[in-house]
Amino acid sequence: MIMKLAVIAHDGKKADMVAFLNRHINFLKSNGIEIIATGTTGKHAQDAGLDVKRYLSGPIGGDAQIASDVCTGVVKMVFFFRDPLDKHPHEPDVQMLMRVCDVHNIPLATNPASAELMIMGMINRLGYTDK
Ligand code: PGA
Repeated sequence: MIMKLAVIAHDGKKADMVAFLNRHINFLKSNGIEIIATGTTGKHAQDAGLDVKRYLSGPIGGDAQIASDVCTGVVKMVFFFRDPLDKHPHEPDVQMLMRVCDVHNIPLATNPASAELMIMGMINRLGYTDK
């Protein structure tokens, strides 16, 4: 079964996101998990050799596109590594994306430690395999 995971990282967290995805790429690939990313996060991931589909950059609507996919059931999990020490012009979109994750009960990790636990949960509880 193909599962779509959305990934977003604020600028100060993009390196963390690429490192996280690199660490788990075998798990993601072997379980048929497709990655959708906001534009610049996706570009960083692609530059690191990762296979991701890119939406618009977050500040011009990428977060809203992912939120739409959450609402329609296309995206089943969101990793959004936020930078709490910076300001973001699209904060309303950020809040909206987090809100729709709660509305639709979609797992949302806002930092790498939470995302790690979600991957462990997928292996231990949801039958995904760790190859
Ligand atoms: P970006 O967007 O990946 O295009 O930088 C991330 C964000 O929403 O801040």
